[in-house]
Amino acid sequence: MSTNEESSPASTEPVGTDEVAESVADEQTSDAQEPDDTGSVEALVALIPSLPKVLLHDHLDGGLRPATIVELAAEIGHELPTTDADELGRWFVEAASTGSLERYLETFVHTVAVLQTAPALQRVAREAVLDLAADGVVYAEIRFAPEQHVEQGLTLQEVVDAVRAGFDEGVAQARADGHPIRVLAILCAMRHLDRWQEVAELAVANRDAGVVAFDLAGPEDGYPPSAHPEVFDALRHAHFPCTLHAGEAAGTDSVADAVAQGALRLGHGVRLADDVGVDELGDRLGLLAHWVRDRRLALEVCPSSNVQTGGAPSIAEHPVTRLHELGFAVTVNTDNRLQSGTSLGRELALLVEQAGWTLHDLEDVAVTAAAHAFVHDDERAALIDTVIRPAYAAARGGRHRA
Ligand SMILES: [Zn+2]
Repeated sequence: MSTNEESSPASTEPVGTDEVAESVADEQTSDAQEPDDTGSVEALVALIPSLPKVLLHDHLDGGLRPATIVELAAEIGHELPTTDADELGRWFVEAASTGSLERYLETFVHTVAVLQTAPALQRVAREAVLDLAADGVVYAEIRFAPEQHVEQGLTLQEVVDAVRAGFDEGVAQARADGHPIRVLAILCAMRHLDRWQEVAELAVANRDAGVVAFDLAGPEDGYPPSAHPEVFDALRHAHFPCTLHAGEAAGTDSVADAVAQGALRLGHGVRLADDVGVDELGDRLGLLAHWVRDRRLALEVCPSSNVQTGGAPSIAEHPVTRLHELGFAVTVNTDNRLQSGTSLGRELALLVEQAGWTLHDLEDVAVTAAAHAFVHDDERAALIDTVIRPAYAAARGGRHRA
């Protein structure tokens, strides 16, 4: 597969095998920091928009532009809480922040309602790519549950095709605008419904059409992956990756179940912090926490989303910082940009401003995310060595000169 997709203006070097090996080693040496984090918080935050970012956990039906929802709703006569786009954007964030799961889920009633035709899916997919590219995202895996978009008669395959067409348009337009980005899809099955097998087969059938993994979304508690072990058994035998939402709403048992079913990454996973204690000898990791850390199973952490749903008290006290310091394979993500009123750049800025993250921390999570992307290892190495590392080196250089 070509690695040119990930090239940025700062990257012209071809990638050799030695560099692949180096990049794997690089990913594990996050503590070897140079004293480069002497700049102010404001200076670091100002750098964030220009830094290349890697996004692994972002939901298509949680990333619509408010103005687009207003237009699509008008076309189909769907009633919204307000038809003023700015007000609607605020409504989504407020409704998602009440701590009430019912109100949180109500927000998706509106986004899913307007995503029932191929043109609507295509448009929203295109706009998502453009919004991510404008945020400095150079590689993204966007996920969606095809079964949520068949109310008006689309087949599951037609949903996948429409989203892919939108991604392709967005990628082409972003490239023309000078923001190269690579975008792939993850297909989710809804945990509380019974189409897991069907969606898993759909994902595998589309592996050459930009679908790179399978996920379970929806209510975590009470719907463990082990309810259908045959689905994950089939995925393993097809050599097809899965990432599973786990350790967001439910605790370590849920994480253990996802790991046992072969998840290579964990959606959120923050409740793993419950398996890390402290005594007079220092940090004490339980068996599960050790396993996840030692196997380098990446955590797709979404800080603002967790604060909104009560999974963390604040950004400052969010377990992501501790998990990162403990050496877990932490990545930072958006989850639902609309419901959280956020972007990946904003999530990173919040961690810098409220949790003391440094330029090294930002580079570390970008490299970790790239290293755990569901693409071939040569592509991951190229992304790290020709896009991320040079950009951060340049940023450090700029800060030294300042
Ligand atoms: Zn999610």
